Amino acid sequence: MRAAVLEAIETLTLTEVDTPQCGEGEVLIRTQACGICRTDLKCLTQGQKDLKVPRILGHEIAGIVAAKGPGVSQVSLGDRVQVAPGIPCGTCSYCLRGQDNLCDSMKIIGFHLNGGFAEYLLVPARGVKNGVLQRIPDHVSFAEAALTEPLACSVNMQSSLNVSDEDSLLIIGAGPLGILNAKLARANGVRKIIVAEINERRIKQAEKLPIDCVINVKEKDLVKEIMALTKGAGVDAAIPCCPGLEAFSQGLNALAKRGRLGFFSGLIGNTVPGFDLNTIHYKELLVLGAYGCSLSHNRKALALIAEDKVRVKTMISRKLPLDEVGSGLEMVRRMSETSIIVEF
Ligand SMILES: [Zn+2]
Ligand SMILES: [Zn+2]
Repeated sequence: MRAAVLEAIETLTLTEVDTPQCGEGEVLIRTQACGICRTDLKCLTQGQKDLKVPRILGHEIAGIVAAKGPGVSQVSLGDRVQVAPGIPCGTCSYCLRGQDNLCDSMKIIGFHLNGGFAEYLLVPARGVKNGVLQRIPDHVSFAEAALTEPLACSVNMQSSLNVSDEDSLLIIGAGPLGILNAKLARANGVRKIIVAEINERRIKQAEKLPIDCVINVKEKDLVKEIMALTKGAGVDAAIPCCPGLEAFSQGLNALAKRGRLGFFSGLIGNTVPGFDLNTIHYKELLVLGAYGCSLSHNRKALALIAEDKVRVKTMISRKLPLDEVGSGLEMVRRMSETSIIVEF
């Protein structure tokens, strides 16, 4: 089969590899769509804490059940399925509490295991048993279903933040995750949604969305602008959807007392210049982390797409064949598209 293999940092090779064979309990998926995201770019350029190379990348996956090993009753040949990439053990204390994205022996497709930038991928027995394959309703395309995973990560973040119709929410960054968070916040009934962005093209895209305010941070001081919009109080919650330290400190500085910060994007660097840490103490701020998504977040995300509560179709600005995955990653680097899907 054809696959894009990350051989080492900065070395992505399009090549022929053996098509995996199903063993006991395993399912072979014929890939139909796989999203390319900034995490894939990070894996390519600097590696990632869960990434083991050589590896076929790609973790936003939808496809068709092409084969199954003995003992698989959960899916049938020909089923259209979305793959939740985290393969939890199902037995540790986190798994038993439904926080399976924090599983002590998590294996993630596209990081520890081969992913969706290939014609086929194997879902291990443990994943099949734990329900990582979800049937896609007929009216949802494979490309839309591929966006289930990033939406599920946003579901995880906003459920930790417990956002509600009483909240004002600042989202920093209008890339695909910023837009998904804005759409999800609307579906969650958030009272006031403010999006901040620096890139002109993304500002124009964000202005088309049903959000209350888009702040151009190239022209305006974000924290001052937030204080003006909230009569000096600050926002109830903020989610920086970008890796910059400045956005992280701006998110914290823009919060009201008892405000909640969603620590959603991994940061480039780990000290926070421009923010006085004592502010967390004085203002009783809450900083909540979110990493990946659980199986229940994944189920909720596909239901939100299927019920048209979060419309992702309009976000897909580019579809590419597998052979052009390298140029897709370059588009992610240039931030020239919203969501990019590899289609098979
Ligand atoms: Zn991703
Ligand atoms: Zn576990």
